[in-house]
Amino acid sequence: MRIDLHAHSNVSDGTEAPADVMASAARAGLDVVALTDHDSTDGWAEASAAALKNGVVLVPGMEVSCRTELGISVHLLSYLHDPAHPGLLEEITKAKDARLTRAERMVTLLAEDYPLTWDDVIHHVAPGATLGRPHIADALVAAGVVSDRAEAFASILTSRSRYFVQHYAPDPVTAVELVRAAGGVPVFAHPVASARGRIVGERTYLDMIDAGLAGLEINHRDNPAEGRAFLHKLAERYGLLITGSSDYHGTGKPNLLGENLTSPAVLARIEEMGTGTPVVRGKTTAS
Ligand code: AMP
Ligand code: FE
Ligand code: FE
Ligand code: ZN
Repeated sequence: MRIDLHAHSNVSDGTEAPADVMASAARAGLDVVALTDHDSTDGWAEASAAALKNGVVLVPGMEVSCRTELGISVHLLSYLHDPAHPGLLEEITKAKDARLTRAERMVTLLAEDYPLTWDDVIHHVAPGATLGRPHIADALVAAGVVSDRAEAFASILTSRSRYFVQHYAPDPVTAVELVRAAGGVPVFAHPVASARGRIVGERTYLDMIDAGLAGLEINHRDNPAEGRAFLHKLAERYGLLITGSSDYHGTGKPNLLGENLTSPAVLARIEEMGTGTPVVRGKTTAS
């Protein structure tokens, strides 16, 4: 069984429509794929139909943008939550709306130094999608300022750049509580991805575990080897699930579907724990 629990569509910052992500998953030889767009579940319906058509099992999910009180960014994966749960929906809606204002501010700052307009950015965004720096990167690529998203993130768009603006995001402990309240299974995404920015200390893990954190995405290309040993110790001590995923973004990142996998036993635990929405599994696919 090939199981990949982290993929994005153009409902957030992936480059493929949800149905195309399901087709790509089938082509990559996956049996199971999770759609985990940033702060949105808008792709679930389209992905569900396409998963059945392509003979892959879909785990409906989401990646919640969070920030600690020290200003450290945390991404929290949620699997199988109720997408209509008011508390969780309120937080992601607030974050998604704040992302729009934040992107406008960043573009205003960037426009002072680069040939970039708001229209150039919107041109690359599917209607209603969760706006992020990757969309600004796409506009900078189109303007010939950088050659790809990676180059934009390495310079102009890093969190240390003078063009960077923060947006509202819930605290990760609150997010874990809300995901649980919505019947979802919370998993800390790429927890030690130090190249993206500062990473949290042990205290934050303990607080998230107290709040109901279920797992750690240890097998992800952005987690360096040093940090993984610490994560394995935590997982063992607190009985956390260990997942592996690609964090596929279509052509937006080099990450390939299936480059990291999650075990069937862990998927079975996630399915037992997740009560807010079912896994989408066609009759022809063995369970
Ligand atoms: P934002 O949430 O708008 O601050 O932007 C962060 C998003 O940018 C993350 O979801 C990543 O998927 C994406 N990202 C971060 N670094 C890179 C990179 N080097 N290349 C492409 N996308 C990236
Ligand atoms: Fe992303
Ligand atoms: Fe992430
Ligand atoms: Zn992601």
